[in-house]
Amino acid sequence: MLDVGKAKKFIDLCWADEIVPTLVEYIKIPNKSPAFDPDWATHGYMDDAVALFERWARAKLPTLLGSSLEVVRLPGRTPVILIEIPGEGQDTVLLYGHLDKQPEMVGWTQGYGPWIPRLEGDKLYGRGGADDGYAMFGALSALMALKEQGVAHARCIILIEACEESGSYDLPHYVDHLASRIGSLSLVVCLDSGCGNYDQLWMTTSLRGMASGTLTVEVLDEGVHSGDGSGVVPSSFRILRRLLSRLEDEETGAMRPAELYVQVPSERVAQARRASAALGKAVYTKFPLKTGMSPMSDDPTELVLNRTWRPQLAVTGIDGLPAPTDAGNVLLPSTVAKLSLRLPPGLDAAKAADIVRTLLEKDPPYGARVVFDPESNAVGWHAPSLSPWLEQSLTRASETVFGSPPAPSRLWLCSGKNSRKRSSSSPACSAPTPTRMAPTNSCTFPPASVFRSSSRRSSPTITLSRARISHCRPHRKDSGHERAEAHYLDRRDRTAKDVSAETARRRRNRREQSPASGGDSLHFDRNRYLTVASIIFVWNLGHL
Ligand SMILES: [Zn+2]
Repeated sequence: MLDVGKAKKFIDLCWADEIVPTLVEYIKIPNKSPAFDPDWATHGYMDDAVALFERWARAKLPTLLGSSLEVVRLPGRTPVILIEIPGEGQDTVLLYGHLDKQPEMVGWTQGYGPWIPRLEGDKLYGRGGADDGYAMFGALSALMALKEQGVAHARCIILIEACEESGSYDLPHYVDHLASRIGSLSLVVCLDSGCGNYDQLWMTTSLRGMASGTLTVEVLDEGVHSGDGSGVVPSSFRILRRLLSRLEDEETGAMRPAELYVQVPSERVAQARRASAALGKAVYTKFPLKTGMSPMSDDPTELVLNRTWRPQLAVTGIDGLPAPTDAGNVLLPSTVAKLSLRLPPGLDAAKAADIVRTLLEKDPPYGARVVFDPESNAVGWHAPSLSPWLEQSLTRASETVFGSPPAPSRLWLCSGKNSRKRSSSSPACSAPTPTRMAPTNSCTFPPASVFRSSSRRSSPTITLSRARISHCRPHRKDSGHERAEAHYLDRRDRTAKDVSAETARRRRNRREQSPASGGDSLHFDRNRYLTVASIIFVWNLGHL
């Protein structure tokens, strides 16, 4: 039996003394995913990150008897870290994560930046800490906590890839290459998603797909004076508006083509209700809405369904229009808009792009030249139903870690502190899709099918919550990224020294703090870490 109090203590120490300082060093490394750094191999940042992870993990292997680690490198591909930890029974659990990062992006507050780690309160700012640097540390330290107490667990494989933010195109090659070593999987845990709060265990049960493209409307060979031409020449912008109205109801924001919808499974509707009951207004207050703004619906359940199971349009770029300060009285020759559509899980994204193109291009108003050029698309994902043992395990895990359930509810993931305060008829929660400040094609964690290829029987895949940590603090544009990268280059050889210095500093700090103060309460990490521990723990009890 796992002593949760003891595990928490172990976890606190491990994160404060070792993992957070290592993540601090990791954030400094600009190891952008290959899509954002085509010269990643020459730059060597990915190797630096892998070496940092490897160094930390290797030092822990002696505590996990019989375990082994290998950095596997297929020619021309980003590396993967493979850690094998023997266990009891016939089953194998795969714990997945990635260490490549999103690019810098803009919007960082002065003094913050992607490669500038900053600990502030219980948050660690910087690129990659939460997405998804923590995963290997969470998985390994979970197993260490079990080992410390002599709690048995199944055989575990930790697989950390370095291509996820580019669409994981290298991963299937590794899964094939390592199939015999990975073995037959009984459960895949993807530690790479978002969560709604810290009051219960969250899982991602679906992700929307997407289709994007560029819509061009041309009306003139060259611009003409608006005093001369308006009223004679139709405005390209107005035609664009009319075309967009074919796609979207501008009053409600609902997409018009019925073919872009799917029947939402009843269990997902029920989960959306539970998620919205757990989150309440937080479904929309988490967004930096301007004062006076209201969300697209008053009903949080509708909002959850909108963002998980319904198609939505975002116009993410526009061209052909001068900046307001440069705008004269000219009727413009063309308007170009970048359209990004989110699609319900399971909907054929390529087909959806075709539907959109036909809809936009047919019968162009006034005979304007209208072209919709589809660019990228991705099919959404919908988790299979949970088998009863897994559902029970998750319920037990959430209860064990987050508190006792308030009522004899059969609902899983509903045992948090908040749900105890709520009426038993509206317990929390399965997860909505994760949010992330990232390009539209980013961070699609690997579908179960990737791992099924190496599995004799179908493996349930669960995707657990990552912290609600901010990727960036939106405000002013910061120009310090390159400085930080140069600084990193100066320091890259001193990483190991820095880690131990940081460790010593944090250890000193903790001693100086009263335990009642909560110490370095990085609860987002602790939470996730316990999640993994409890999953493996309950997995073990329920299944071995
Ligand atoms: Zn990720």
